[in-house]
Amino acid sequence: MSERMLSEAAGYQLLRDFGVPAPKFKIVKSAEEAAKAGAEIGYPVVMKIVSPQIVHKSDAGGVIVGVTGKDAARDAYNKIVESAKAYNPDAQIEGIIVEEMAKPGLELILGGKTDPAFGKVITFGMGGTLVELMKDVTLRILPVDEDDIRTMVTEINAYPLISGYRGMKPKDEEALVEIIKSVAKFFEESENVKEFDINPLRLYEEGACAVDARIIID
Ligand code: ADP
Ligand code: MG
Repeated sequence: MSERMLSEAAGYQLLRDFGVPAPKFKIVKSAEEAAKAGAEIGYPVVMKIVSPQIVHKSDAGGVIVGVTGKDAARDAYNKIVESAKAYNPDAQIEGIIVEEMAKPGLELILGGKTDPAFGKVITFGMGGTLVELMKDVTLRILPVDEDDIRTMVTEINAYPLISGYRGMKPKDEEALVEIIKSVAKFFEESENVKEFDINPLRLYEEGACAVDARIIID
């Protein structure tokens, strides 16, 4: 069992290499560094725990969004470390990631897993905290072409939230298609990647941004 989870930072870097937009970030190891990093990135920022043993960071009190300034960043640093230790005393804490706070958008999920029979499969659907509840996801076995991807996008139940529902402006479907293409290419070409998810990818009227990344390699 040599499977391991890459850090969110490493995940962002890998995804960026394939053209998936991700927030600016910095890894810090003290409250003071956190305050400085926030100033460099520009407040408000989001701060999150970096630990290989903590997969669902929110469950561990490991995510604070909307950190508005240096004092808040110092407080958030201490609070996150404390919560993570309380959640799992054995978790090894590598630091805190301080990242650019993305504007609100439609939260989608993009994922991949390796099926013992079918091989690499990609999934796409509604993301955020409602994923489990809504089960509004579709999947394809790799390889996929652009037509497959366009069909995936239109076949989820929430598609009207992308195409424009009741006077809401449509979201950037073209950017989404390009990102799914990039992610499929990333998964196909990365032999050691067994599983991943981007949850959420925030989709806007223009563009999109991944605000979480979990990649399992072997
Ligand atoms: P978890 O490990 O619990 O899935 P996430 O990294 O997904 O943690 O963060 C939890 C939630 O916080 C996300 O679903 C998203 O809504 C919000 N969030 C995370 N990172 C950012 C960011 N950089 N900008 C804005 N919102 C964010
Ligand atoms: Mg997440």
